[in-house]
Amino acid sequence: MNRSAAVSLPVLSGLVSDTAGPVEPCLFNARNIVDYREGMQAVVAVLEKHLGTVDKPFSGIRPHELADQFTGIDLDRPLGDLALALGEVEEIYLRDAVFFHHPRYVAHLNCPVVLPAVLGDVIQSALNTAVETWDQSGGATLIEQRLIDWTASRIGLGEESDGVFTSGGTQSNLMAMLLAREHFCERRWGHCNREQGLHAQASRLRIFTSERSHFSVQKAAALLGLGYQAVVAVPCDGYHRMDTHALEAAILASKAKGDFPMAVVGTAGTTDFGSIDPLPAISRLCEVHDLWFHVDAAYGCGLLNSVQHRHRLQGIECADSVTVDYHKSFFQPVSCSAFLVRNRHHLSCVTWHADYLNPFSATQQGTPNLVDKSLQTTRRFDALKLWLTLRTLGAEQLGAMMDRVMELSRQVYLLLLSEPSLDVIHQPQLSTLVFRYAPWGLDDSERNRINPLIRQRIMDSGEAMIAGTRVNGRQYLKFTLLNPETGMDDIRAIVESIKEFGEVERQQARPVSAEQEVSHA
Ligand SMILES: *Cc1c(COP(=O)(O)O)cnc(C)c1O
Repeated sequence: MNRSAAVSLPVLSGLVSDTAGPVEPCLFNARNIVDYREGMQAVVAVLEKHLGTVDKPFSGIRPHELADQFTGIDLDRPLGDLALALGEVEEIYLRDAVFFHHPRYVAHLNCPVVLPAVLGDVIQSALNTAVETWDQSGGATLIEQRLIDWTASRIGLGEESDGVFTSGGTQSNLMAMLLAREHFCERRWGHCNREQGLHAQASRLRIFTSERSHFSVQKAAALLGLGYQAVVAVPCDGYHRMDTHALEAAILASKAKGDFPMAVVGTAGTTDFGSIDPLPAISRLCEVHDLWFHVDAAYGCGLLNSVQHRHRLQGIECADSVTVDYHKSFFQPVSCSAFLVRNRHHLSCVTWHADYLNPFSATQQGTPNLVDKSLQTTRRFDALKLWLTLRTLGAEQLGAMMDRVMELSRQVYLLLLSEPSLDVIHQPQLSTLVFRYAPWGLDDSERNRINPLIRQRIMDSGEAMIAGTRVNGRQYLKFTLLNPETGMDDIRAIVESIKEFGEVERQQARPVSAEQEVSHA
């Protein structure tokens, strides 16, 4: 124990003068609202300047080139002026940022964001509400709760449902597997892991999910002490959806081995293929085998808003828990996500009553403290941007935007099919396309070599941003379409670049190997 720290306290407090007033107008408060307005205007001006001049999603800068910009920056010597600091941010960030809102950004699952949501985030940051307890949030707690109830009702989870906002699908999937594990161990063995530590048989618990599901399921299993080995990868059908016959076989095989199946994770919108697992059939198997049914709808949740495509999520209403990422297909800024459960009582496995924060007495008095059902303590009021979005634009508008990207994906699919040098390997269920440059006469190893190089060349040019992935050991390219303003013209231009760069790489390969042969001779 450090005694000297304890005795030095009175001395320290003597240093604080009662008359110390505000020295610099640096805090956000009523007195500084003029500075706030001027600062906001300066920020808007900088944004306007960059948005106005950006004509491609990325500058194409390489990491080491940008890193050079940081060498002269001494964090211990502030610039002392907002305009100078903003100028520096322009140099090290804005000028070379990746612009998700650009119509030729078609790489990852990042959506362009709707205006009311951006403005909602401005309010959230200024007030800095922390949403974990009623006494830090007031109405913010009720806004989040209403959005949770609204989402659960769109899913159809029933009267007993509940949920909480999370940092993203990764955290939601972790919560799902935590609840599934606790539920199983308590029922099967009368064992409470959170009080007693992991049950001796825990390494035999099994989670079933398709081979195309998100890696956060594996991460969750590892964090929960079950290990990657707990996750059984179920094969998919030709559409990259979980094969439910294979699922049933895997469950039975696992039981026969003496393992303990505890949960099935169905994916509504896989990250690479946008495929939606057959949720009704999975749900029936979960019922028969008494397994927790989690639906990872991090990507597919956008269909909840679509009149035209909502039916594709059929069966999601039977889930025990659901992951939704508003920051993927509700056009919200990061972070904005939620975890929902059919039976609210299951959330109590993350409840801890801290005397200073959310004492049991508060629960008894009926005070809503969202920290009772969250893994996080201090938590942003991410619900406000979604609230402002729904109250301004409404869910139907979001659904129509999703419909637009679905229709675009269908057209892009037809375009890719019509290109002899491109090989598209699936028909889109949502809004991704996985394909590769594969002209006749190019063998598999050349295709695997060239496709990542095409992607790199496109990124270097900055004219577009596309993604890449590996399927069954082969290299592919990927479009993720989430921008309703992306048009077929944009896609045609990207496809032309892909073919052009592919041809360049192909031509380059020959002379180089010929030269090497000469020099080796
Ligand atoms: C993106 C994604 C996740 C992870 O969500 P984050 O918000 O990035 O943590 C989980 N599942 C699927 C299917 C995803 O596409």
